[in-house]
Amino acid sequence: AEEHLRQVHKLDAVGQLTGGIAHDFNNMLAVVVGGLELARRKLRLKPDDAERHIDNAMEGASRASALTRRLLAFARSEPLLPSAISPDALLEGMADLIDRTIGDQIIVTINGRAAGWRIFVDRHQMENALLNLCVNARDAMDGRGTLSIETTQAPLAEAEIGECPAGDYVRLTVRDTGCGMTPQVLARVFEPFFTTKPVGKGTGLGLSQIFGFVRQSHGEIRIESEPGQGTAVHIYLPRHRASAQEADEQAQSAATDET
Ligand code: ADP
Repeated sequence: AEEHLRQVHKLDAVGQLTGGIAHDFNNMLAVVVGGLELARRKLRLKPDDAERHIDNAMEGASRASALTRRLLAFARSEPLLPSAISPDALLEGMADLIDRTIGDQIIVTINGRAAGWRIFVDRHQMENALLNLCVNARDAMDGRGTLSIETTQAPLAEAEIGECPAGDYVRLTVRDTGCGMTPQVLARVFEPFFTTKPVGKGTGLGLSQIFGFVRQSHGEIRIESEPGQGTAVHIYLPRHRASAQEADEQAQSAATDET
């Protein structure tokens, strides 16, 4: 019943929000067109100004194209190409990128505590999901605070979280000391296109994509949030025990299943 309710929420949201997307996209195009018009006017007399306007236009254009890319990915639910991945190695490999994304003012701690455990997921989507969570945390902290990312080994009993069967899970937690969410916001975060961010900044697709990815990977996502205190997002993914070779074979058959 819970799953059914989620589907209904999603359909509602898609119906309501087509207009919202068109509106966002139109705003981005306005930035492009406006920037180019200004640039054309300044081209002769003030080439420096013209360059600045062109830069603005380019930024608007790339935002618009990022929006359509995410929209397309969302609409088609790009096929997953899972492989056996060490979550700790993945975190380590992304540490620099995360640091650069978060900036200097925010303290970042990364703790891989799932050594030796692997998960069977699409690497690209997993990285995207993690980065998205970090960007959300950064946006929530307004320049200062602590972002901590942690993996742990989580053996779960029957139905301890959602509909997950009992077994070993890797839990990935992304925690921030940011603004947190009201219960009203928290209730809607997985809706496609739901965002509280200004136009051009948020697409409202981050968490709904992550939700889809986690469910397709047979995992669960849980969010705890306290207004004014911060947010913790927990992603549970089943532990993968097959050998590397078996995993390759599984990935290949998953790829052929898609066609
Ligand atoms: P977007 O980031 O583009 O808005 P998301 O689906 O990732 O889209 O997030 C939806 C909304 O959930 C955000 O606009 C914000 O209101 C809320 N949110 C997500 N992550 C956090 C967080 N770490 N702290 C506070 N609010 C958050």
